Amino acid sequence: MIDNIIKNIFDSHSHYNDEKFDDNRDEILKSLPSKGIDKIINVSASEKDAYDCVNLAEKYDYIFASVGVHPYEIENLSQDYIYNLESLSKNKKVVAIGEIGLDYYNNNIDKDLQKKIFEDQLALASELKMPVIIHAREADQDIINILKKFKLSGVIHCFSSDKEIAKILIQMGYYISFTGVITFKNNRKQLESLSAVPIERLLIETDCPYMAPEPHRGKICDSSMLYYIIKKIENIKNIPAQEIADITNKNAKELFNIK
Ligand SMILES: [Zn+2]
Repeated sequence: MIDNIIKNIFDSHSHYNDEKFDDNRDEILKSLPSKGIDKIINVSASEKDAYDCVNLAEKYDYIFASVGVHPYEIENLSQDYIYNLESLSKNKKVVAIGEIGLDYYNNNIDKDLQKKIFEDQLALASELKMPVIIHAREADQDIINILKKFKLSGVIHCFSSDKEIAKILIQMGYYISFTGVITFKNNRKQLESLSAVPIERLLIETDCPYMAPEPHRGKICDSSMLYYIIKKIENIKNIPAQEIADITNKNAKELFNIK
């Protein structure tokens, strides 16, 4: 499908436990190293997902896991969820707390509850000295105010805000990560933000099975499609594709403490 000329690719955000992969999950995962994929973070969204992410990471040496609860999944948490996440985090394949954050795009979920669950998980990351994977949508000011209360490292995933917000978060020590959205039409804001992020603070991700880049928009995405995302960054930043893969790989390994 893809002429494979880029190696050493680090997919910093994927959801391989998603049911869209139920028919061919292992087949896809086994094929990825031969398509230039070096490492993958399989990111948890719900409390149940956290267990599934750890199990999948244990099956493949090039897959790592994060544990955490996405703002869409906070309404049916068990009372012991922080304790459960903490227990899971002891597994050596778990490299981050995430994805956690605030999403004001979907107004059905109480904002105060979102903030509380977000802060509880940030406190856990702080106690465990682990990096965080942040989901932020239409909630920039609250995200910045809350992150300022903690001294953490981390990444803002699927970045969708403007370049001024990117600059503030970079100054706070965070990495900024982009998905296939940068290949879509009419996304001037994201491309301006991408231009403003120095390559030393950049991560790349698929967020698969969602967000397949052009020319595969709408299809089920997998990590091999990072090829198109890297090619777009090459075009915007005028840095050779292999160098983008190498530097974002190094950035991810530093952030997630992977050798
Ligand atoms: Zn995600």
